[in-house]
Amino acid sequence: MALTNQNTALMKEITLKKGKEESILRHHPWVFSGAIAHLPSGLEEGDLTVVKGADGRVLGIGHYQIGSIAVRILEFNTDRLPDDFFHRRLDAAFRLRRTLGLIRPDNDCFRLVHGEGDFLPGLVIDIYGDTAVIQAHSPGMHFERRRIADALIAIPDARIRNVYYKSETTLPYKANLDPENEYLVGGYDGNIATENGLQFNIDWLRGQKTGFFVDQRENRALLEKFAKGRKVLNMFCYTGGFSVYAMRGGAESVVSVDSSAKAAALTDANIELNFPGDPRHRTCAVDAFKFLNDMPDKEYDLIILDPPAFAKHRSALKNGLIGYRKLNTKAFEKIKSGGVLFTFSCSQVVTREAFRLAVFSAAAKSGRKVRILHQLTQPADHPIDISHPEGEYLKGLVLYVE
Ligand code: SAH
Repeated sequence: MALTNQNTALMKEITLKKGKEESILRHHPWVFSGAIAHLPSGLEEGDLTVVKGADGRVLGIGHYQIGSIAVRILEFNTDRLPDDFFHRRLDAAFRLRRTLGLIRPDNDCFRLVHGEGDFLPGLVIDIYGDTAVIQAHSPGMHFERRRIADALIAIPDARIRNVYYKSETTLPYKANLDPENEYLVGGYDGNIATENGLQFNIDWLRGQKTGFFVDQRENRALLEKFAKGRKVLNMFCYTGGFSVYAMRGGAESVVSVDSSAKAAALTDANIELNFPGDPRHRTCAVDAFKFLNDMPDKEYDLIILDPPAFAKHRSALKNGLIGYRKLNTKAFEKIKSGGVLFTFSCSQVVTREAFRLAVFSAAAKSGRKVRILHQLTQPADHPIDISHPEGEYLKGLVLYVE
């Protein structure tokens, strides 16, 4: 349903069970299917719907979808959205990134919209130079993609010229939307973005997620400060982000490891772009656990472990934590004394505390003496709405190993 021509008289309404309105009154944007007393007939996935309490009070308006999260609220305490809803939200998101100092000649790569954290549940937008890459996670955002693209182009001073839509893998496949990855505006006109003065080839066409992990920007910058004179091992390197920063930080040598040959090639290309012909770097396309098992002891004194989410769902939590413990144990066993370990988890279901416990028990198992130097998280362009604590996902520790 389009935002314009909203006819409130025709707007389908969902009524909640008694007592189920509390989280929405606290501005948590998800309505779970179990909270719904009445679903109107004819309500289709992606439709805008008004949510009412059992007493008939209007709680908000949002996108409906089939599944455990039935509605993602876009605006509270109202039964309609303004026609310029996306313009307003995207302008506000852009103003925040400007306040954060992310829009500079030496930095044109940042997350513009982080779902619930920017009051746009179901929507992620990353900016790479003059290209915006949109990922829809809800059918509602899928149907609004052209309106979102128009609003992106119209953001004053953002100078976005191309909008690529990439939701083939992020939308619920049962919704049968058959989304095509495509340019909604413009087309390919180069793919080099600048992050803190370093250049990166961003492959939004074939790469993972929107093509780059913008969320590690500040953690990479911190790593740079530790790199001087060290032998660096960057596990799960993907595009080689940490490796490029380590090179600029004056590392003696850098080895980047990823099981994907495509990722290894991306890393090589990014090293070459910033440090052409520099012999300090090499890439290995091999499984991380095999590499850690086979490598000699005390070879590296700065190790990065930034694996994919080991626990994507609550059901995988136990095995995920075992995975983190095993991985970190290997790194503790092999790192040189006086070494520094940057270790991360991007699994949303793994709490900060659970991750710390997994890492601390790995340290205990290895028998190494370990101190915490820094506790890391996601950067400010991935904000967490305090009404939606589920928005927190990235956790990291910088550890000094005697
Ligand atoms: N550190 C990266 C992001 C890592 S994404 C950055 O800063 O951008 C996770 C990466 O782990 C992916 O590139 C994936 O190919 C790789 N990967 C997944 N399983 C792996 C394994 N068993 N061994 C090595 N790499 C693996």
